[in-house]
Amino acid sequence: MSGHAWLMWDEAVTGYDFGPDHPMDPVRLSLTRGLVRACGLDAAVDVVAAPSAGDSTLRLVHHQDYVDAVRRASLDPRGAEPAYGLGTVDDPAFAGMHEASALIAGQSVGAAEAVWRGECAHAVNFAGGLHHAMPGAASGFCVYNDAALAVARLLELGAERVAYVDVDVHHGDGVQAAFWEDPRVLTVSLHEHPRTLFPQTGWPEETGAGAGEGSAVNVALPAGTGDEGWLRAFHAVVPELLADFRPQALVTQHGADTHFEDPLAHLAVSLDAQRAVQASCHDLAHEYVDGGRWIALGGGGYAVVDVVPRCWTHLVGIAAHAPVDPESLVPAEWRDEVYARTRQLGPGRMTDGRKPGWEPWEAGYDPADRLDQAVLATRKAVFPLRGLLA
Ligand SMILES: [Zn+2]
Ligand SMILES: [Zn+2]
Repeated sequence: MSGHAWLMWDEAVTGYDFGPDHPMDPVRLSLTRGLVRACGLDAAVDVVAAPSAGDSTLRLVHHQDYVDAVRRASLDPRGAEPAYGLGTVDDPAFAGMHEASALIAGQSVGAAEAVWRGECAHAVNFAGGLHHAMPGAASGFCVYNDAALAVARLLELGAERVAYVDVDVHHGDGVQAAFWEDPRVLTVSLHEHPRTLFPQTGWPEETGAGAGEGSAVNVALPAGTGDEGWLRAFHAVVPELLADFRPQALVTQHGADTHFEDPLAHLAVSLDAQRAVQASCHDLAHEYVDGGRWIALGGGGYAVVDVVPRCWTHLVGIAAHAPVDPESLVPAEWRDEVYARTRQLGPGRMTDGRKPGWEPWEAGYDPADRLDQAVLATRKAVFPLRGLLA
């Protein structure tokens, strides 16, 4: 095994572009790539471009008639079919949509293959994490579900237990749906409560079905949850599940839209807490996952200058075993690039200046506290199904 983590990157992923009025501006990907480079991390990773996902790979999760519909919309955006979620406000069709989406999916699948085969212990695809795409429809800015495809490819390669942990502010509904009845895949999603946010799913009572009963875990956090609550919830649920499940590979989704500056959601998490969760996912991979196999993906994040590039640069640094010091200054040449591309001033430091801690669940909880009620609802709904104490 090479000592380096893999950073999956092909410049053409920036072709995933729903147009100038859409919040998912691909500049967030190019600025992240630029900040990774400016922070010197290229020396600590292998930068690899994997091939696009072909139809046989896409079919691990998606229906062929949907893939065909994406291809038609890609050639003729005006003919996009809303029955497949295409040509909608969230997922407007664009020329080259199939190619850009399949390329992003290919990066996550390639990351999964490399980690499974031991070519690297960790791989990052920050262009991925498109967790809302359904087997037969686009949804929530997501066309092909690269996260689910990475998991499905691991199963195809022989994995018997794969854990998926999703800390995007939105519920990881597409990945949950793909493995709803599959006990080989444990999906865990921490997100803002469905009462106040798209996609209005991710209730604690959603726990899987059939042989997969107990394999879906949902933590629905009250709007306004900040660093301490977010970290407390993560640590009250995720480590215990992974310690018990002992996955052979861990796939994590690191949507940056939990941040207090994010315009599309209502949690109040800082960059520093996001970084702390990234580091915890890395630690958990080494502690509970065979070979430390870890595939880390991006996701949502619509504060495209202030938040997303710093968040995912930290993720790359952590996966590369070359963590970026939060106190360090943002490199001036990157701030120049930001100004040239966006006419905005980039952030000055790699931190929001927080040093978040949390009260461990084991120390006790308050049944009158809304955050604790959310954690308790999750533990009560699913822990007994897994033979764990609620
Ligand atoms: Zn999101
Ligand atoms: Zn490591």
